[in-house]
Amino acid sequence: MDKTTHFGFKDVATEEKQSLVRGVFDSVASKYDLMNDVLSFGAHRLWKHYTIASSNVKAGDKVLDIAGGTGDLARAFAAKVGDSGQVILSDINATMLNEGRKNLINKGITGVEFVQFNGEHIPFADNIFDCVSIAFGLRNVTDKNQCIAEMYRVLKHGGCLLILEFSKTDIALLERFYDAYSFNIMPKLGKIIADDEDAYQYLAQSIRKHPNQEALKKMVLDAGFSSCEYHNLSGGIVALHKGIKTY
Ligand code: SAM
Repeated sequence: MDKTTHFGFKDVATEEKQSLVRGVFDSVASKYDLMNDVLSFGAHRLWKHYTIASSNVKAGDKVLDIAGGTGDLARAFAAKVGDSGQVILSDINATMLNEGRKNLINKGITGVEFVQFNGEHIPFADNIFDCVSIAFGLRNVTDKNQCIAEMYRVLKHGGCLLILEFSKTDIALLERFYDAYSFNIMPKLGKIIADDEDAYQYLAQSIRKHPNQEALKKMVLDAGFSSCEYHNLSGGIVALHKGIKTY
């Protein structure tokens, strides 16, 4: 692995990134859901709804949500798989996972399992999940190729990978507005609401460093997926990549 990597726009030692990312999510965990609603004007709910609708997950399926945080996807998957299925909500960060646990309990959702681990090393056997998802998580993972390889490994043949992540818009006017908003306004809102301006500066920067739609598609195909299609949401500010493991 390379000796350095990026943490937002900063170059840091590769082994340092994970603890810097942990610091970000430890700091914002209790305000994470509120910030999502405010910063995206509620649009993250539509992006996640589209992801669930695209998943083809059905009653009885086994689903693993990686970097699942406060549990939005896991909750929706639980409703789809029903009592005969299984949903695992996982995250590297205990504070985020606890927020997820509290959320699901408060909403009366039972049956979701919670497991803390790094998406680069998934502690499950090969070929066991019908669907593996990661929403707004891959950007934060140090070795993205390793994480995609692990998601491939645990999926069943015929299983489906869903990566929902910030991406690149090619609408010039939207890009100008989005740059101004994300570099100037988002960190200020982060300061006011979550008392952490730096965490939301990191958010804006990490989005710019993330591979664009085509680059991420190539990474998914290179990991062995037999197909990968993406769908732009909100003009490409976000994209959903869907990979299928055939063999
Ligand atoms: N999936 C949730 C959502 O869409 O609201 C939470 C997304 S939040 C922006 C990113 C999450 O990725 C955080 O909960 C963070 O702890 C988690 N994360 C960061 N690096 C990770 C890693 N290497 N493995 C697993 N989770 C990780």
